[in-house]
Amino acid sequence: MTKVKIAVVGAGLIGLSTAVCISESIPGCSVTVIADRFTPNTTSDVAAGILIPHVYPGTPVHQQKQWFRETFDYLLGICNSSQASEAGVHLVSGWQIFKTVPEEKTPFWSDVVLGFRSMTEKEMKKFPQHKFGQAFTTLKCDCPPYLLWLEKRLKENGGHVHARKIEDMWELHSDYDIIVNCSGLGSRKLMNDQEIHPIRGQVLKVHAPWIRHFIRDGSGLTYIYPGVHDITLGGTRQKDNWNLSPDPNTSKGILSRCCALEPSLHAARDVKVKVGLRPTRSAVRLQKEVLVRGSEKLPVIHNYGHSSGGFSVHQGTAREATWLIKEYVAALEMSSCKAKL
Ligand SMILES: Cc1cc2nc3c(=O)[nH]c(=O)nc-3n(C[C@H](O)[C@H](O)[C@H](O)COP(=O)(O)OP(=O)(O)OC[C@H]3O[C@@H](n4cnc5c(N)ncnc54)[C@H](O)[C@@H]3O)c2cc1C
Repeated sequence: MTKVKIAVVGAGLIGLSTAVCISESIPGCSVTVIADRFTPNTTSDVAAGILIPHVYPGTPVHQQKQWFRETFDYLLGICNSSQASEAGVHLVSGWQIFKTVPEEKTPFWSDVVLGFRSMTEKEMKKFPQHKFGQAFTTLKCDCPPYLLWLEKRLKENGGHVHARKIEDMWELHSDYDIIVNCSGLGSRKLMNDQEIHPIRGQVLKVHAPWIRHFIRDGSGLTYIYPGVHDITLGGTRQKDNWNLSPDPNTSKGILSRCCALEPSLHAARDVKVKVGLRPTRSAVRLQKEVLVRGSEKLPVIHNYGHSSGGFSVHQGTAREATWLIKEYVAALEMSSCKAKL
């Protein structure tokens, strides 16, 4: 059988990680990533990239936990290798703090991160406005380095990238056997998915190298996430807001909320403002669909809608998408064998 040709639409975190996973797990296929935006101009480049799960109301918790565990263990392996610095993957310890004691003191992901425990009284003294806290060590991917590293790995595995806007998936029909849809918010138009919508996030990237611990308010609205080169201060969650322009008043609010948690941030320098639109739906869409046009068929594997938690689950969802593709490749090979008999 001739090589199975696979096109992955999307070059954000989800498209690149899925393309790498396919190129490493399905021998003998060709993989091409097609997108109209590449790093540093994707939503994924704006993210803090910390591994703290977002909860997807439409996905069973055991499934979300499996995706998180697979992603955490995969990145921990990279973190413990000589690739860590180029990939921008590092461990980070810190605190998640709450103004009222949460109903669920031990979240479902507590045994995946390292050293999860309740904060001590002495630790809580740093946060007099808060009543309860959790301390743990997790991982963080710095972007753009992580996206650049994924793209490099894809090319080393023989994969290709093309800059192109896709208006209709059928444009790819004559050149590819299988399409993998990782277009994030682009799926609203491309697949006419009216469920996917933006949740706007504005963040500040600042220079404050003395800060080594993360601090996250349990509401998820205010956070301080130290990376290798800068610190991400957040944030906002504005549903259905498509505006990509930074708002100066929002920036002031973010800085003031973060300084209330960590007063030394008043001395932060080199403040850059970034805005990204989280591709949000109640559940990640991870499924196979066969598009039909007359007598023609176009198999599409969807992997999009990761909302606020793409970094936390990307390797788990990339593996599941690859599994769906493997099934389809096996069926193609079987029908090709039968045709030869
Ligand atoms: C402010 C902010 C902070 C965040 N922090 C975190 C965090 O700390 N931890 C975490 O886990 N998650 C975080 N996230 C969420 C995370 O960034 C997203 O879940 C993730 O980036 C989604 O990746 P994606 O590849 O699906 O989308 P994108 O990065 O948007 O990529 C979509 C790709 O599809 C392409 N595309 C779309 N339509 C078309 C088309 N018609 N033709 C061709 N190409 C097309 C685009 O060009 C792009 O390449 C954050 C998000 C924001 C905004």
